[in-house]
Amino acid sequence: MLVERIWAANDLRNFHYLIACSQTGEALVVDPLDARLCLEAARAHGFTITQILNTHEHLDHTAGNADVVAATGAKVLAHAGAAGRIGGVDRGLARGDIVKVGRTVELETLDTPGHTRSHVCLLAHGDAPALFCGDTLFNAGAGNCHGGGDPGLLYETFVDQLARLPDATRVYPGHEYMARNLAFTLDREPGNTAAAQALAGARAHKPETARITTLGEEKRFNTFLRLANPEIIARLRDRFPEIGENPDARTVFVKLRELRNSW
Ligand SMILES: [Zn+2]
Ligand SMILES: [Zn+2]
Repeated sequence: MLVERIWAANDLRNFHYLIACSQTGEALVVDPLDARLCLEAARAHGFTITQILNTHEHLDHTAGNADVVAATGAKVLAHAGAAGRIGGVDRGLARGDIVKVGRTVELETLDTPGHTRSHVCLLAHGDAPALFCGDTLFNAGAGNCHGGGDPGLLYETFVDQLARLPDATRVYPGHEYMARNLAFTLDREPGNTAAAQALAGARAHKPETARITTLGEEKRFNTFLRLANPEIIARLRDRFPEIGENPDARTVFVKLRELRNSW
């Protein structure tokens, strides 16, 4: 499996991805916003785009569909529950569906609600597992729930699905928010040395060369994967005394998400 990350260089800091078969050069583009950039990248690498995957219906993940389809004839794939809002979807996806790219790439569909009600992540298994996670999991952060989502559902997606993937899983999110999210981690957990080191590294990179994290790293510096951490809970209690001495993980997650909304 070949993966090319394409930086959109926009205010929303979007990433697009090309996932290609090393044997046939067929490629799937994830969340095209800037169609021209996606088409140019495919051409530069000798890839033929045959499929588009929208992780969810927000326009910054779908606006390039029409131009990519016009240029390539690609089929559009999306969560079956989001297909009506996106329009032009050729294949509605459900949990467990397999998306094939060329001869060598197989991606498993995860149904991952929270940022929106109908959101999919694609998971590549094998020696180099990889997760294309849209606006669900970010580097050192979690997606917001302003545009039709629900923080309780996002919590369940994190705990029941994402946190259980192998630590070696590479994380390919829909936006570049690493430094900002790490600063939030340090605000919540000032003693987190992994976050401090990662923040120095993030600030030394331009977004287009931001490093790709693994889930194992995320567990060390992503507040939303550290719900049992005593420092995080103690500082959260300073802010929300009503959570008591032993808040459950769902309460910790939802309160962290609430804090992050205005941080
Ligand atoms: Zn979104
Ligand atoms: Zn987005």
